[in-house]
Amino acid sequence: MESKRDYYEVLGVDRSSSDIEIKKTYRKLALKYHPDKNPGNQEAEDKFKEAAEAYEVLRDDKKRGIYDQYGHQGLEGAGFSGFGGFDDIFSSFGDIFEDFFGFSSSGRSGRSRAQRGTDLRYDLSISFLDAAFGTETEIDVEKMETCPTCEGSGCEPGTYSETCSSCNGHGQVSRSQGFFTVRTTCPNCRGAGQTIVSPCKTCRGAGQVKTGKKVSVKIPGGVDTGSRLRLSGEGEVGQRGGPNGDLYIFIHVQQHEFFARNNTDIVCEIPVSFVQATLGGEINVPTLDGEKALKIRKGTQPGETYRFRAEGIPSLRTGRRGDQIIQIAVKTPTHISKKQESLLREFAKLETNSISDKLKNIFKGGAERAAQ
Ligand SMILES: [Zn+2]
Ligand SMILES: [Zn+2]
Repeated sequence: MESKRDYYEVLGVDRSSSDIEIKKTYRKLALKYHPDKNPGNQEAEDKFKEAAEAYEVLRDDKKRGIYDQYGHQGLEGAGFSGFGGFDDIFSSFGDIFEDFFGFSSSGRSGRSRAQRGTDLRYDLSISFLDAAFGTETEIDVEKMETCPTCEGSGCEPGTYSETCSSCNGHGQVSRSQGFFTVRTTCPNCRGAGQTIVSPCKTCRGAGQVKTGKKVSVKIPGGVDTGSRLRLSGEGEVGQRGGPNGDLYIFIHVQQHEFFARNNTDIVCEIPVSFVQATLGGEINVPTLDGEKALKIRKGTQPGETYRFRAEGIPSLRTGRRGDQIIQIAVKTPTHISKKQESLLREFAKLETNSISDKLKNIFKGGAERAAQ
């Protein structure tokens, strides 16, 4: 096995160097040999790995103590054997790299971070029938869009932005906080790395303007209150080349005067006279597709239900329609003519097993039980 160089030598610092000195030197080396700056350069890569390993030990008081006393072998005995490869380095240094250079260990994307546009919510109220069969509508969405005058640059046409003098274009400024240098977004350019000399008059340099945009929305049949439609890319515009956000349409279905909804079934109440209920017959029932005849049985009771198969709402997933459920409401007449009244009295005399007889039996049974 090839013998390892002394860690202090690798970083070019004294054995008595402070943590801060070690960190400063390491940062210089890491920036110089970073693989993003030296693509395909094996020597730089080796130096970068060597420096990272040395720093990993010397930044840690415990590891540094072991190394000072027992050298490389001491560390191996303590379970530290350097790094296996770049992935190792980046996974253990991810946060620090982010702080140092403004890129992450996984993406290493460079300093000006593309930002996805914000998602938007739009609440859309539609009629019961539109929800059942679907519709197409146009909505006005207020959102930030790329400024048409400067095409997003924020600069007055014909002028250009300059590298930010506060951060030298890095988009971040450093601030010491104990052992670490914490990098924060540059307050001067707000992370863009560029400052605008003469701001665009339309957007005042923002590169975006609030606009009302007409968006056409296709609503599939079967949506219900709480359904959510996603229009990909119709949210706010992304920043620095990032993708647009999405637009979410939240559906609210208005109540219908006659139909109520129970998932894909629709429920309605049909009033019939007690004569119709008693004699049975055919009645006309409104459906989503027009009127339809319904035969009711002789002796239909109040609240009894009938069903029209597949006359309900189509399922969003399968397209199969639910049923229409018809509840019979028996109406008692409040105004009757003299003739109707006398016929009813005649009818009452003919009733064989009347309700009042049944009630008598119930009371009788109750009294017997009470006597026992
Ligand atoms: Zn503009
Ligand atoms: Zn700046």
